Amino acid sequence: MMLMISDLIEKPLASWHGQERYGNEVLECLTIIFKSGGCAWSKCRMCSYRYERYSGQNSPGTLTGYLRAQLAWVIRQHKTEEYDMVKIFTSGSFFDPDEIPPEFLSDVAQTFKGKLVIAETRPEFVETEIISRFIDILDDGTWKTPLYCALGLETSNDGIREKCINKGFTFLDFKKAAALAHSVGAGVKAYFLFKPLFLTETEAIADMRTSFADTVVHADMISMNPCTVQRNTEMEHYWKRGAYRPPYLWSILTLLADAPVHVTCDPLGGGRKRGPHNCGTCDYDMVKGIRDYSLNADRDLITALLEIRCECRKEWEYVLSSEKSYCMPLTQ
Ligand code: SF4
Ligand SMILES: [Zn+2]
Repeated sequence: MMLMISDLIEKPLASWHGQERYGNEVLECLTIIFKSGGCAWSKCRMCSYRYERYSGQNSPGTLTGYLRAQLAWVIRQHKTEEYDMVKIFTSGSFFDPDEIPPEFLSDVAQTFKGKLVIAETRPEFVETEIISRFIDILDDGTWKTPLYCALGLETSNDGIREKCINKGFTFLDFKKAAALAHSVGAGVKAYFLFKPLFLTETEAIADMRTSFADTVVHADMISMNPCTVQRNTEMEHYWKRGAYRPPYLWSILTLLADAPVHVTCDPLGGGRKRGPHNCGTCDYDMVKGIRDYSLNADRDLITALLEIRCECRKEWEYVLSSEKSYCMPLTQ
C-alpha cells in the first residue's frame, strides 16, 4: 500500500517562536528551517547547512510530500494567532524551484496569508514570476510589504566574497536581485558575514563598515552574522590548525555602535570557542546585550557595553594593531 502524504511524520530541521524588530515595532516571530532538496551551490567555505538535505534523487512529488508534512507539523505546533512574522530558511534557497517545488511555495503563502514573511534565497532565484505569485497569495493587505527576500550577500567586496567565502555571485548580482524584488513589491534583507576566513580582525571590521555603507541604499533591513565554526567545513579545517579565530565580541559592538542604520545581530555560539568570543569573563553580558540591542535598537546600551572594563580589551586592541594578513594568490 502506498504511504499517504498525511501519514508522513516529518519535522522541519528547526522551528521556534521568538521576537523580531520591524521598523519601530517588536513583532512575535515564528522561525522555520525547512529540510529541502538542498543548496544548489553548496560550496561556501564556512557552511555546513548544505549537508542538511533529503539524500538521494527525490522526485519533485516526493519532495513536495516531505515538505507538506513538515508544514503540517509546524501548523500543529504553533498557533497562528501567536505570531505576526514568519522567517523561513531552508538548507539553501527558498525560491529555488529544484529545492522547493513551486506548488509547495503556494501552500506556504496560503498558510501564512496575512503574515509578514522573510524568506532566504540566493539572488539567482529572485525571479519576477515566482516572487509575484507568492506575494499574490500571501498578501491580504495587512502589510505594505508582505514579503522580504533575505539575501546572503555576506560582503559588498567581490574579492572577499570570492576568495574568503566562495559564494559564487557578485555584488552586481545582488543589486539586480534587490531591484527586481523591489519592482514586484517585495522588500530586501541583506545578511552579512563578519570575519570570513583569511581576514585579520581589522580587515574584517573594515569590510563590514564598507559593506554597510555600500548596501544601505539597496536593502531595507541589514543583519550581520558573526562567523561561527561549523562542523565539516573548510573553516573548521583551518580553525583546528590554529589558522582561524572567530571575531571578538568587542569588534561586533564597535560595528553596531557606528553602523549607518540599525543592524541586527544574533551572535550564534557567542562566548564559545567556535563562536564569536572574548575572554570568557565578559562574554555573557556582551552576548546578551547584543541580542537585546537587536530588539530595542538602543545605541546607549552598546556604548555602555563598550565601556565594560575587562582585561581582554587590551588583548583585542593588540590584535587590531598587530595582526598581519597572509597572502592568497590572485592567480593559479
Ligand atoms: S552559505 Fe548558503 S549558498 Fe553557501 S553553501 Fe551554504 S546554503 Fe549554500
Ligand atoms: Zn573579557
